[in-house]
Amino acid sequence: MEEKVYTTSSPQETQHLGEKVALSLKNGGVIALYGDLGTGKTTFVQGLAKGLGITKRIISPTFIIVRTYKINAKYFYHVDLYRVHDEDNIKGLGIQEIINNSQNIVAIEWAQKLGNLLPQKRIDLRFENKTLDKRKIVFNKSP
Ligand code: ADP
Ligand code: MG
Repeated sequence: MEEKVYTTSSPQETQHLGEKVALSLKNGGVIALYGDLGTGKTTFVQGLAKGLGITKRIISPTFIIVRTYKINAKYFYHVDLYRVHDEDNIKGLGIQEIINNSQNIVAIEWAQKLGNLLPQKRIDLRFENKTLDKRKIVFNKSP
């Protein structure tokens, strides 16, 4: 496990971190995002999408759960499980199929709700509020 701890002091800094992480994802990958509401998960995904070359504005997918963006021949999926409650609901969303295609790039907010449907090979990012504008972000990459 490769753990890194970041502190950001503005939404822009969190987006820059997202852009940096995007560079390691061009061949696909799963990014699991954890943390309470307002800790910066969606803000991070905005940077991630920018780093992947997506120019469309990234808005929170909370109400539709999964948003799909095309990047050349690949797809970026932004998933937000905030409103999903039981595991049967999760199984009906097609997320397993999305994850199983290793070419896909998938960012999942409230990833803990996937339980053991989360793949072993992934990046974990844990978000925490420190002050109004400071966020602690802990990065872990599976071997
Ligand atoms: P989440 O998706 O975790 O619910 P959002 O990214 O939607 O969180 O919201 C984070 C909020 O916190 C935004 O209003 C953003 O402007 C604000 N914010 C303030 N400081 C930061 C920071 N350092 N990183 C990320 N967001 C920040
Ligand atoms: Mg969000």
